[in-house]
Amino acid sequence: MKALIYKGPGQKALEDRPMPDIQSAGDAVVKITKTTICGTDLHILKGDVPSCTPGRVLGHEGVGIVEKVGSGVASFKKGDHVLISCISACGRCEFCRKGMFSHCTTGGWILGNTIDGTQAEYVRIPHAETSLYHIPKGVDEEALVMLSDILPTGFECGVLNGRVAPGSSVAIVGAGPIGLAALLTAKFYSPAEIIVIDLDDNRLSVAKHFGATHTVNSGDGKAIEKVMEITGGKGVDTSIEAVGIPATFVLCQRIVAAGGTIANIGVHGVKADLHLEDLWSHNITITTRLVDTVSTPMLLKTVQAQKIDPKLLITHRFKLADMMKAYEVFGHAADTKALKVIIEAE
Ligand SMILES: [Zn+2]
Ligand SMILES: [Zn+2]
Repeated sequence: MKALIYKGPGQKALEDRPMPDIQSAGDAVVKITKTTICGTDLHILKGDVPSCTPGRVLGHEGVGIVEKVGSGVASFKKGDHVLISCISACGRCEFCRKGMFSHCTTGGWILGNTIDGTQAEYVRIPHAETSLYHIPKGVDEEALVMLSDILPTGFECGVLNGRVAPGSSVAIVGAGPIGLAALLTAKFYSPAEIIVIDLDDNRLSVAKHFGATHTVNSGDGKAIEKVMEITGGKGVDTSIEAVGIPATFVLCQRIVAAGGTIANIGVHGVKADLHLEDLWSHNITITTRLVDTVSTPMLLKTVQAQKIDPKLLITHRFKLADMMKAYEVFGHAADTKALKVIIEAE
């Protein structure tokens, strides 16, 4: 089968690999129909994720058709259409029993990281019973690829952790796919203001189209003043960090109102400043989280009921054979205006 292989920092290749097989009773092998590329894959390619070693098949998102299952899998059978979660969960360990699947002792984020992932014709899914979801009939599979990772990540790490509430004010710093996923799902709670901040005017206009009440291009260094103007000088109740660099984490601290929450989503590769000299008395909450995908069943229902349309995030489509080109386009998003790319594997 064809698979996209991480060959070490800065290097990748589309290669032939043997088809994966069942290794333990809880496994399923899924024939991928559609997958995508995540910003995290770019982090791996930069060498930021040491747990992912050369030779690994990348990818942790996708939908497909069950090819075979191990003897311990009862809920899925050959031919079932399934959504693959980016988080594998045993459902039994101490962390899973708390609903913290991201820290499953034999799972978590392993796909396309410590085991081979979804940017291939087939993938082995461990703990299939508790890591796959049946796709309801009539639901668009492209839209559901957005539910493997980015929608639950934006929702759980940004909106839920950020305690977005009716009538509240929200700032989302970073209008990439994850920031936009936070925007789409923040609207569940009807906040009064959703301010999206980015350097890219194209992404800001997409944010506006998705329902941002205000957009701010931070390129002139005046983002703080503009947010203060919009919020009557008090700042926002929730500031969501969806970039993962020190400057945006600091910006979130500067624009959060007293009593507010800073919800970090960004994958940080280096240390960032925390201005406790300003914030110690401001009743601030700061949250961090790796997505648990506990909200996936709920998000599936909202997509099925057409309450949200994650397909809006898809800008480009490629065949698996053109995977290298897909990375090229996704990796140069400022020029190509790429958000999410769909890779068809069949
Ligand atoms: Zn991802
Ligand atoms: Zn577990």
